[in-house]
Amino acid sequence: MIAIPTKSSHTGQDYLPKNVTETTKRSPNQSLLPLTAKINPHDHLEIGGCDLKTLVQQFGSPLYILDETTLRTACQQYRDNFKTYYQGESQVIYASKAWSCLAVVGVIAKENLGFDVVSGGELYTTQKALSQLGYSCQEIAQKIYFHGNNKSVVELEQAIEVGCTIIVDNWLELETLAQLGNSSPNRTIPILIRLTPGIECHTHEYIRTGHLDSKFGFDPNQLEAVFTYLTEHKSLDCRGLHAHIGSQIFEKQPHQDLAGVLVEWLKIGQEYGLTLPELNIGGGLGICYTEEDDPPSIEEWVKAVSEAVMKACKRSEIPLPKLIAEPGRSLIGSACVTAYTVGSRKEIPEIRTYIAVDGGMSDNPRPITYQSAYRVVLGNKMSAEINETVTVAGKHCESGDILIKDAQLPQTHPGDILVIMGTGAYNYSMASNYNRLPRPAAVLVHNGEANLILRRESYDDLIRQDCLPQKLLS
Ligand SMILES: *Cc1c(COP(=O)(O)O)cnc(C)c1O
Repeated sequence: MIAIPTKSSHTGQDYLPKNVTETTKRSPNQSLLPLTAKINPHDHLEIGGCDLKTLVQQFGSPLYILDETTLRTACQQYRDNFKTYYQGESQVIYASKAWSCLAVVGVIAKENLGFDVVSGGELYTTQKALSQLGYSCQEIAQKIYFHGNNKSVVELEQAIEVGCTIIVDNWLELETLAQLGNSSPNRTIPILIRLTPGIECHTHEYIRTGHLDSKFGFDPNQLEAVFTYLTEHKSLDCRGLHAHIGSQIFEKQPHQDLAGVLVEWLKIGQEYGLTLPELNIGGGLGICYTEEDDPPSIEEWVKAVSEAVMKACKRSEIPLPKLIAEPGRSLIGSACVTAYTVGSRKEIPEIRTYIAVDGGMSDNPRPITYQSAYRVVLGNKMSAEINETVTVAGKHCESGDILIKDAQLPQTHPGDILVIMGTGAYNYSMASNYNRLPRPAAVLVHNGEANLILRRESYDDLIRQDCLPQKLLS
């Protein structure tokens, strides 16, 4: 689906989506650049109608540039394809750990998606954004699902206050919730039960076992004990089951198998007299970080999951549950790029050439954490011939602070703009202030307009929480 830079064509143009007229029909997760990416007459990369070099001049560097069209298109493709392929009710919820901030919540809420949150902080952010957007308390409660393998009592109370569905991970949490439920007898607490289904995916391997070594969720051998407990604790309103099997997955079979297993378990629960009207299949669909990545489209994934759930329900003779999916990366990953400014260069003859940029592991910890691969273009000279192999390094005091090893680029000079693609998911949300670098700004681009959605941190922001004990002052 995506352009593959070949030996014969060697410019940044090769990374552009080919069929520009059908922008919103392409699956964002199969595109390296955001769907609106173009080269403008200045030979600059343009996203959402905005010239990247101009954006950097205006908002500074490094800069996260989030394309509203790509993000909305991914939301629409998930939402609408579930309507097309699944005959029951469905809901898509955004795994906000991929990137949680008010504006991202805002755009995704406008597309009618819900939100999965995994901490009091993500819950707070999501709730604040939704209430500022004018959603009622009841609507907010219905949109949010609260995850986490070690929620504190304070977080659980916060979730009960919001009224969102809590995805229960373990016995301590189940028992704590039952207690909290008893102390407010007029209302029940909506929950889902998270299970570890014995299906595990890493990008290139897929394991199916009876039990899994994972910190998340109940082991399946606890299932009947959990169902018994639920029948005895009426303050807990168990809405159904949940599982999430991994991330950056390129196969459809694991989720199809998962659907089969979860539906069998729903049936067992229903035999205990629980209604269990919801089934949450998790997220995990992969995206293209490089031309070698080959994930199914959003439509193909949704179709496969929908058909597998419907088939399993037919086999188990249970009514179709409300089907919930909670993608993160495949909703937002391809919608964002990070622009950096080129600085120093170090050539080690016959070994390697480094070019350094003004960010690194603090704004994108994925390469150092997961050895993740990325692709880069020279945003201010898109048609320049690619004729160098260089390593793009960050500016942190860490030899491993390498953004891209052996990147293919044209000749670069200090001040050039490097654009790294696919930085929407797990970049800003995992960013740090290592070496006391202020976190970059982020802009939302659409139709030639850029809106600041995250201010660049200032040095004062960096010392905001610092305290100098009085005794040091005397
Ligand atoms: C991380 C996570 C997701 C989202 O995963 P992606 O790979 O980003 O789609 C969904 N559900 C749970 C429980 C998660 O932990």
